[in-house]
Amino acid sequence: MDKLLSVDGLKTHFFLKRGVVKAVDGVSFALAAGETLGLIGESGSGKTVTGLSILGLPPRPAGRIVAGSIRLDGVELVGLSERTLASEIRGRKIAMISQDPMSSLNPVFTVGSQVAAPIRAHGLARGRSAMDLAIDELARVRVPSATERAGNYPHQFSGGMRQRVVAAMAIACKPRLLIADEPTSALDVTIQVQFMDLIESIQAETGAGLLFVTHDLGVAASLCHRIAVMYAGQIVESADVRTLYANPAHPYTQGLLESLPKLGARQSRLSSIKGTPPDPLSLPDGCAFHPRCPHATDRCRQQAPPSIDLGDGQRASCWLLENA
Ligand code: SF4
Repeated sequence: MDKLLSVDGLKTHFFLKRGVVKAVDGVSFALAAGETLGLIGESGSGKTVTGLSILGLPPRPAGRIVAGSIRLDGVELVGLSERTLASEIRGRKIAMISQDPMSSLNPVFTVGSQVAAPIRAHGLARGRSAMDLAIDELARVRVPSATERAGNYPHQFSGGMRQRVVAAMAIACKPRLLIADEPTSALDVTIQVQFMDLIESIQAETGAGLLFVTHDLGVAASLCHRIAVMYAGQIVESADVRTLYANPAHPYTQGLLESLPKLGARQSRLSSIKGTPPDPLSLPDGCAFHPRCPHATDRCRQQAPPSIDLGDGQRASCWLLENA
């Protein structure tokens, strides 16, 4: 498959008074058109900052992309001016579906006018009114009675319907890449399933690549083709979804999967990964996972492991795999 998105050696750091937080520290991955890549990990692992960096929006003023490359359809995005990012990339070629629809939608404008806004801003109406196109998009994300509901305000929608409006805004300009950041975490389980079905059908229809940021391994398993597991700002393992869930290679991935409840198994307690994610202002030497890893050795405490190719598209960063 041709690469739609290539991220190479991306580093996004936060420059704080107390020190430098390496929120994303040398992340590399690629994504093809029509493919879904799940970026998973605990809170603070760097997955959201990776998504925001691709949008050219590392949290400011402290956050800055300090190294690496982000190429979309072969075009380098790192270093583009804010004006170019706003007029040609953001919303037009890359769009985001965020976690909380209430903070993505403006309470004082109707949902129709908010979906129409990016169509108008990017000059895509072409002979039809932006509002007519917005109503088409609301119908596409299965908002019932879209023509009437376009005149409603966000507070008149349920949580699931608000998330559909956010999805309509994201796809309004037919972007090549969608970044969905925990889009289902605020939804009830039944609504989650409907929303995931919707995302899949949007993707099948538009052929967009999807970067799906989540801490929910169950949702990732059902939606993604490939998974990249992040820990302390780095990808510690990546593989196609079947391989990763059937044969996780990195102790952190193994710990995440073991902490999932198993259908039909009698478990008095769920297992968990001991300890907590490291303080980003003072990461441990060597492998950042070593304080929590049951297999850590002196070497792990001193030297960071390289990313090791395990074949069939699986890679993991762990000294245990050196001679695997
Ligand atoms: Fe554990 Fe060592 Fe592998 Fe890190 S490199 S995951 S500490 S065994």
